[in-house]
Amino acid sequence: MSTPVLVVGGAGYIGAHACKALARAGFQPVVYDDLSTGHADFVKWGPLVTGDVRDREGVEKALRQWRPAAVMHFAALALVGESMRDPGRYYDVNVVGTLRLLQAMVACGVRDLVFSSSCAVYGDPGVDRISENLAERPVNPYGATKLACERMMGDFETAQRVRSVRLRYFNAAGADPGGDIGERHDPETHLVPIVIAAALDRSAVPVEIFGSDYPTPDGTAIRDYVHVCDLADAHVAAVRYLQEGGASRTVNLGTGAGASVSEVIAAVESVTGVDVPTRRSHRRAGDPPRLVADPTRAETLLGWRARSTQLRTMVEDACRWHRRAGPAMAVTGPGPRSAADADG
Ligand code: UDP
Repeated sequence: MSTPVLVVGGAGYIGAHACKALARAGFQPVVYDDLSTGHADFVKWGPLVTGDVRDREGVEKALRQWRPAAVMHFAALALVGESMRDPGRYYDVNVVGTLRLLQAMVACGVRDLVFSSSCAVYGDPGVDRISENLAERPVNPYGATKLACERMMGDFETAQRVRSVRLRYFNAAGADPGGDIGERHDPETHLVPIVIAAALDRSAVPVEIFGSDYPTPDGTAIRDYVHVCDLADAHVAAVRYLQEGGASRTVNLGTGAGASVSEVIAAVESVTGVDVPTRRSHRRAGDPPRLVADPTRAETLLGWRARSTQLRTMVEDACRWHRRAGPAMAVTGPGPRSAADADG
């Protein structure tokens, strides 16, 4: 029997990729997801328990039934703009959800947690590469909720011995190269799938470039795009680290290199051979000019380093998924998303 891991939010984009990585590493992923933004057809590597993370009894029931060695927690709202408009919902789902999960874990004696955090906790640090030692100064409620969850985990460790690895993602991109799963949001607000949809679905609607007056070489904002399969592998490494008795830590997950919005568009044009219509637009509220990880700690602590570091590879894999999934995505205009996408 393989060791079960409860994957809360495992029907979402990153969670589903983590399930595949878990299964490949010999674990048994058990998905717990309310399917509010996740997809039942992404649950392919183990059972699905349908439930809300805020339902402590529901979580406890799943923990008692499956007796997992560890929990991965992806279930959260992850739209920065939405969090500015409706912070209460973000505190409810993200913070209360994490609280109930931690309480359920303590009640059931499950004490290892891998948590989806975000570089949104740093705010706008204005440095070349962001290390975990920088002060956390979130600039939107989404980042604030992720930081509140991290701090809650620290308190639960002191009082209840819950150990956690808090993984601060930069920009997840790409898709499983096998084409099993990929990025499917409704509405879609992320740059890579929006540009790919514009190219492959021959959209007449131009892609909006949110800000071309940033203090960057080409004037557009720079992000650290990291392949979703690499992120998934980091979660498996984090579970192993905890199983081996590792102490709680906070870890950046990025490649250490940045790409601008214009470079992402150029990469999609190069992969697809299609000129993507674009339109310069205003900066999106809450978008810092540059967010690039210093990924050193991930390597020293977890032995993890991004393998698919080329933007082109991420775009190719995402294109393959888009072709397979079809143009079902509703691509909409502004509505900033977070650097993490931990929906499930
Ligand atoms: N972006 C853009 N046009 C879009 C969507 C995004 O110019 O239609 C920019 C956005 O302002 C940011 C970058 O692309 O600088 C990455 O945005 P995304 O929403 O993919 O991830 P985020 O960094 O917000 O988590």
